[in-house]
Amino acid sequence: MRLLVLGTGDAFSCERFGSSAVIEAPAGFVMLDCPDSVGSAMREARERSGWNVWPERIDDIILTHLHGDHCNGLESIGFRRWLMHRNHGTPLPRVHCWKPVAERLWERLGPAMDQGGKARLRDYFDVRELDPERTTGVCGLLVQCRPTEHSVPTIALRFTEGDRILAWSSDTPFDPDLIQWLEAGAHLIVHETSPPPTHTSIEPLNALPESVRKRMRLVHMPDAFDPTCTTIPCLQQGQVIEI
Ligand SMILES: [Zn+2]
Repeated sequence: MRLLVLGTGDAFSCERFGSSAVIEAPAGFVMLDCPDSVGSAMREARERSGWNVWPERIDDIILTHLHGDHCNGLESIGFRRWLMHRNHGTPLPRVHCWKPVAERLWERLGPAMDQGGKARLRDYFDVRELDPERTTGVCGLLVQCRPTEHSVPTIALRFTEGDRILAWSSDTPFDPDLIQWLEAGAHLIVHETSPPPTHTSIEPLNALPESVRKRMRLVHMPDAFDPTCTTIPCLQQGQVIEI
């Protein structure tokens, strides 16, 4: 399993894309959240990493929540893939999310995509449900999710391939129970940092045991974030990490 970082910014970033990544899984690429300007984010990541990632080639998208910095790119991917589906019979992309997100996804996308009332969510995406109560297979990865205490329904994620585990906090206030869930056996823990109360400030992360911090990388930083305030490395856009 390898991780390609697409975006590392928070919702207000003017310098970086919204926090997102592509996971190279045994059966294809899995996109982890879908920020604004997703085509540009992928182009930049492609140029820096050499990975052949394009919005047209992503068949699986995991969505953590419905804030724009995590899902605004769905509209352009949806229209592009709808055209490919209509003109060439290309399968629709699968969107994996938990029920509270799935239930409101069309409320979010419909005003721009309903084509005068003729189109439905299923015309653009094959929506698959992630359930916090069970493990789901996505592209050969085992995926577990857990709700976080963010301001809208949001899930953190764990991805397992063989004995390798990647954990992704998504947006969350600092939560020791969540940290425990994320870090158990994980080789890489990607954790957000942004101003509280709906996000995690750097101080409690700096206070974690070294055994956790050394496996942790930061994402979702504000533009003013000072990387010297912590020994936990910040992810970089276009960076590739072998898990
Ligand atoms: Zn966010």
